[in-house]
This record gives sequence, structure tokens and C-alpha cells, in this order.
Amino acid sequence: MSEAPQRRTAVVTGAGSGIGRASADRLRADGWDVLGVDLVPDDGSVVRADVTDLGELEAAAAMLGDAHVDALVLAAGIRSSADDRYAAVPLDVWSRTLAVNVTGTMLSLRAFAPRLRAGSSVVTIASMAAICGIPKRDAYTASKGAVVALTRAWAADLIRLGVRVNSVAPGQVATPMTEHVVGLDAARLPLGREAQPAEIVEVILSLINPASSYLNGAVIPVDGGLTAASALVTVSPRR
Ligand code: NAD
Repeated sequence: MSEAPQRRTAVVTGAGSGIGRASADRLRADGWDVLGVDLVPDDGSVVRADVTDLGELEAAAAMLGDAHVDALVLAAGIRSSADDRYAAVPLDVWSRTLAVNVTGTMLSLRAFAPRLRAGSSVVTIASMAAICGIPKRDAYTASKGAVVALTRAWAADLIRLGVRVNSVAPGQVATPMTEHVVGLDAARLPLGREAQPAEIVEVILSLINPASSYLNGAVIPVDGGLTAASALVTVSPRR
């Protein structure tokens, strides 16, 4: 008699919306057990926890019982829709952006790392903002630069446990995060449109696939060629 296939467990932060939700939905459709974490109220598929609060993250982790984690997708994040450059950004917006995007990413790893089994994967969500300079996006850009740096530090650290850590750096994705950002013109993107969350998820799945066994510490642009063709990024000329 053949053995029953081993259950695979994923934890997805930011699972209430956008890229996180699409990741959790796809993993479930592929047969994974998924613990989604988000600020939104518990609804059976998502547990309420603020990623800036270690106690709430640890309470969410306890809901896994004695299950190990095969994939940890750290998609919780925020982006101010206003000008957040040095000269204008309110300090509370600056602090909250770094708290959620950087500290929240770190605390999420702290809460779930003890459950990561050898052969598992962590995926962070950076941004093209960490690859090329985007004017007037200081808080968000700084936070995503830190996510890239953490991804590399963790890749070098956690591989001793057999855990790979990689990042996706999306361009412009059609999610609630980008709905209220002014000045975005999807028609000017290399593909003439934004990405759909499912197109980011496809790359996340390839990163967590155990067959990608030599991929560690990579930051993969998933931006339709935007950073490759970075002259398309609009910069106001010197006056
Ligand atoms: P989204 O707003 O649709 O989803 C983000 C989710 O994170 C929301 O459900 C929100 O409630 C949750 N969240 C925010 N703060 C939280 C907290 N403190 N604790 C727990 N959950 C929290 O946005 P999205 O576009 O799906 O973004 C997902 C990730 O992708 C983010 O890290 C974002 O920076 C990154 N990203 C998005 C784009 C884009 O164009 N949409 C581009 C590059 C990178």
C-alpha cells in the first residue's frame, strides 16, 4: 500500500488582500494547508494578527499546533499614497511604513522560524522600488531596500538549517495598494498594463518549489521588464 502524501503547510502574511490573498488561495487550491495572517478580522481562512506585534504573531503560530512550516510568504505591507519624501513625509507615516514593512517582516520570521523544516522556503516581497530610484517614495523605498538586505542576510544565515530565503520584487500590480496612488499610468509600462496578483504568485510558487534547490538569496524582479528598461521610469529633469 502506498503512503499518503505528506501534508504541506504554508504561512502567508498579508493574506487578506492582493498578493498575499492570491498566494494563500493558490496554495490552498494546490492542496496546501495555509495559515493566513492579516489585520482583517478572523474569517476562517485568515487569522487576525498585526505583524508589528510579536505576541499576536506567536498566538497565530500557536494555532498551527505541532505542524511544521514548509513555506513562509511574507506579503504584509503598506505604502502611503501621498508624497513620502524626506521633505514632506510626516514622521508617523515614515515610522509606520518601516514598522510594518521592515520590523513586521523580521518579527514574522521570528515567530515562525522555529517551525520551518529543513527543505522549506521563505519568500519576502520587496519591490522594484528597491532596485531603481523612485522619486518621492522615500519611506516605501527605504523599507523595501531593507527587505532586500534582510533577504540576503537571512539567506546566508538560515541555509545552515536547510531553509532557502528569496524575494520577489514586483513592479506595478493591480491590488488595493495601488488603487489610490496618483500618477500611475499603466499604459506606459513595458507590457502596457499592470501585473495581476496571480502573475506574482506564479513566481512565488517557483521559489518555494523544492526543485529550485539551488536558488537562495535571490531577488527576482517581476515587473514586466520595467527595471530592465529603467529609462522608462519618469524622473523630472534638472531645471
Ligand atoms: P494590499 O494592500 O492588497 O495587501 C497588503 C495586506 O497587508 C493587506 O491585507 C493588509 O491588511 C496587510 N497588512 C498591512 N499592515 C499589516 C500589519 N501591520 N499586520 C498584518 N497585515 C498587515 O497590497 P499588495 O499590493 O498585495 O501588497 C503585498 C506586498 O507586495 C506588500 O509588501 C507590497 O509592498 C508589495 N508590493 C506591492 C506592489 C503593488 O504594485 N501592488 C508592488 C511591489 C511590491
